[in-house]
Amino acid sequence: MTPADPGIRGIGMTSLRTRERLVQRLMDQGIRSDEVLGQIRNVPRHLFVDEALSSRAYEDTALPIGLGQTISQPYVVARMTEAMLEHLSGARRVLEIGTGCGYQTAVLAPLVKEIHTVERIPALLRRARRQLSELEIYNVRFRQGDGWLGWPKYGPYDGILVAAAAPRVPVPLLEQLTEQGCLIIPVGPSGRQELALVTRNGNELHQRSLGAVSFVPLVHGK
Ligand code: SAH
Repeated sequence: MTPADPGIRGIGMTSLRTRERLVQRLMDQGIRSDEVLGQIRNVPRHLFVDEALSSRAYEDTALPIGLGQTISQPYVVARMTEAMLEHLSGARRVLEIGTGCGYQTAVLAPLVKEIHTVERIPALLRRARRQLSELEIYNVRFRQGDGWLGWPKYGPYDGILVAAAAPRVPVPLLEQLTEQGCLIIPVGPSGRQELALVTRNGNELHQRSLGAVSFVPLVHGK
């Protein structure tokens, strides 16, 4: 990190020690990937939340980001990123649905070739775009739209990561996977969601659960 890095701007609560505690906690919970833990350490999560909440940015909890949405819990971001990297083959081109504040995007972007990210709320998308460009992350393409439909224009994708819960796996997303692609998506009703990992092998699809999660719903329509 250079002194100009926005990640270490200001205040003690953004200190490396606070971040290190979070990294240790995620290790205790079973996150093993050095790449992922390194990103949790490096990405300044306090810049993705409102200043009033920045003292809580390195707690392992979801926080509100306005407009009824949340920044995902670091453990969940780490778990999804780790699972994605484990199953990502090919050129590492990724589609993300539910950009939100862009934190997950920032964690994943340096570990893959490119991310195409779709968010339905324009104000969040604008904010995420600005934040990622301030962090000098340039391998991300943004789109405002309905993530249920994916983003066929740049598909197929080696990996698709969805950050909002759907009652079932959206078929258009399966259709936008490469032959060996993988899809990670929270599925199920509020209170009973599971993080599903769908892997494709040619015409075959396999689905397994990575455990219980709690996400905001994947809303239909723009
Ligand atoms: N990825 C974020 C968390 C996003 S919360 C993080 O790193 O913290 C889920 C996001 O999905 C919200 O911003 C919500 O607006 C968005 N969303 C919900 N339904 C959607 C849809 N159909 N298409 C695109 N985005 C959607």
